[in-house]
Amino acid sequence: MKTDIKSMTLEELQADMRAMGQSAFRAGQIYTWLHRGATSFWEMTNLSKELRETLDQRYEITAPKVVRRQESKKDGTVKYLWRLSDGNCVETVLMRYHYGNSVCISSEVGCPMGCSFCASTLGGLVRRLRPSEMLDQVLFTQLDSGLPISHIVLMGIGEPLDNFDTVMRFLELVNSPQGLNISMRHISLSTCGLVPKILKLAEKKLQLTLSVSLHAPSDEIRNTIMPVNRAYNVETLLNACRAYYAATNRRISFEYAMIRDVNDSEDCARLLLRRLKGLPAHVNLIPLNEVAESPLHPSSRQTVQRFQKLLEEGGVTATVRRTLGGDIDASCGQLRRNFEKAEKGSVSS
Ligand code: SAH
Repeated sequence: MKTDIKSMTLEELQADMRAMGQSAFRAGQIYTWLHRGATSFWEMTNLSKELRETLDQRYEITAPKVVRRQESKKDGTVKYLWRLSDGNCVETVLMRYHYGNSVCISSEVGCPMGCSFCASTLGGLVRRLRPSEMLDQVLFTQLDSGLPISHIVLMGIGEPLDNFDTVMRFLELVNSPQGLNISMRHISLSTCGLVPKILKLAEKKLQLTLSVSLHAPSDEIRNTIMPVNRAYNVETLLNACRAYYAATNRRISFEYAMIRDVNDSEDCARLLLRRLKGLPAHVNLIPLNEVAESPLHPSSRQTVQRFQKLLEEGGVTATVRRTLGGDIDASCGQLRRNFEKAEKGSVSS
């Protein structure tokens, strides 16, 4: 088995080079090549032929292949479906904003969390991604599009905090000055609410933005749409958010998918206000994206606006998420799901 070189930190690569009798300087050269998207050691022309041969025998360089590329005609959003080295597929979405180009990346193949409105979880978890496979989504989106990526959101397929150590390593890689050098303040991580992992993340005191998929203000409602709520209920989750804020001083972003007749009443807005009291928060209202396999529907535009107004009047900042890529199956997991259905005739779920 060859070692997955792109999952290694610069320090680890330096230690390997020293052990091979090479200078640490070589590690820096190799690391730079890898983080610019080199797919073979033969491209690394500033290394000797002997060293390139040795590296090729020891290490593997991951490189996903594009199997689908869909571009929105409306807003330039591009959705990639990548095939990984073992044949599994994951999605990445490139979004263009006035402040820069942002990629939404996947952290797992499939998802174990079982949220009833989400396409990513329909077939369960297949496997967790490796650090290199998360980094590749950023590198190869940048190479394919020719657009520099300045922002990353971990909101694609999978639950990032279920793949905690890999995600921490990925953050170290993209943040490294010799690599893409993307600032933590330009990175958002979204979780369905794995409380022990939120507390573990708080200890790291990173400057990233934590997004919490709340989607309901009561256990009664949240239990019906998010199985994770049976393990960590709303109160436990919001207490963890308070602890996270106390440790990091970073305002938390709450995602709230507006689902018709499920979580969109005025009582829900009022209860949400009560529960968020004293917690510096931003609520992101997302009109539900319809998923073919789910009976749930989005709330009307008027209901979303009324909900937003109630939150704002109660002193909580609330925005309605602009839907990008609405014409290209751009919500979580839909492209992979539709591709696999077409390829295999059906998907186990
Ligand atoms: N597992 C993580 C991150 C991935 S999902 C999490 O749960 O936060 C990114 C966001 O999209 C989450 O807030 C998720 O709840 C939301 N989402 C999933 N399916 C959706 C749908 N059909 N419509 C609107 N939002 C959806």
